[in-house]
Amino acid sequence: MQKTADLHTHTTASDGTLSPKELIELCKKENISAVAICDHDTAAGAAEAIKCAKDCGVEIIGGIEISCKFSGEFHMLGLFVDVFDQSFLKACRQLEEFRMRRNMKMIENIKNNTTVTADDILNASAKRDISHIGRPHMACALVDKGYANSITEAFEKYLSRGKMFYEEREKFSIKESIDIIHKAGGLAVAAHLNHSVKNFADLDALLKILKGYGIDGAEAYHSSMPDYYTKYMLELCEKYDLGISAGSDFHGKLKDAVQLGKTYGEKPISYDIVRKLKSRMKK
Ligand code: AMP
Ligand code: ZN
Ligand code: FE
Ligand code: FE
Repeated sequence: MQKTADLHTHTTASDGTLSPKELIELCKKENISAVAICDHDTAAGAAEAIKCAKDCGVEIIGGIEISCKFSGEFHMLGLFVDVFDQSFLKACRQLEEFRMRRNMKMIENIKNNTTVTADDILNASAKRDISHIGRPHMACALVDKGYANSITEAFEKYLSRGKMFYEEREKFSIKESIDIIHKAGGLAVAAHLNHSVKNFADLDALLKILKGYGIDGAEAYHSSMPDYYTKYMLELCEKYDLGISAGSDFHGKLKDAVQLGKTYGEKPISYDIVRKLKSRMKK
């Protein structure tokens, strides 16, 4: 049987619904050999998994997903990072502070305009921690109190950029994020560019800029990335000598259509992707 992997997953350290330990158990059940835990703006999930997973038979890859300054959304994955590195942890504390300040403002907006309370929002997460919760937890609380019929609708009506309860968050630039990841020994990989860029000419131009910044790779397979986009990503990765990554972006129940270890069309992820990315670390 071919070895498989997943290089983009979330846990209860951010907006996933499985704890790091539960995620490892699911990897074992699904026969997934390696998993990168890439929580939003924190490596706490990966660190917890590494601590509790010694000799469990699943390779845990230290990871993070950093939201960067960009005209729209831009997420940078750090893969193979040393999640115990002191300067990396300092950067993570700063990211958590950025998130906490944004969350406080958004919770205030929600409280002032609905019957949803701060407690309702915190209770939608497992950790109840203001510096780790995200908009999906706000969406859950809004749905629970009847302000929207689904998480997607809550985003469309209230939480997406420019909508009623939205607040901007301080962010590191793309270049700063790449440098943070490199200093911690990791590979900087652009996540799901299909969320950031629709036009292929713009995608080519962006990857050229990212390469100049020192990026190592990009996701060419993701649960939301249609095959035609994957095809173009593979061409551009070749053109700019970028590593190819693949991840489901598993969040557990929060995005229940996404399966662990699977990308678009329920394609499994070969462990060869991990092997090839690792070879880039030694360059
Ligand atoms: P945050 O980092 O707290 O701003 O929230 C980011 C999370 O919200 C990510 O997991 C996204 O997948 C999720 N998200 C962003 N936009 C939407 C949307 N329109 N519908 C559902 N989830 C979304
Ligand atoms: Zn998420
Ligand atoms: Fe993302
Ligand atoms: Fe993600």
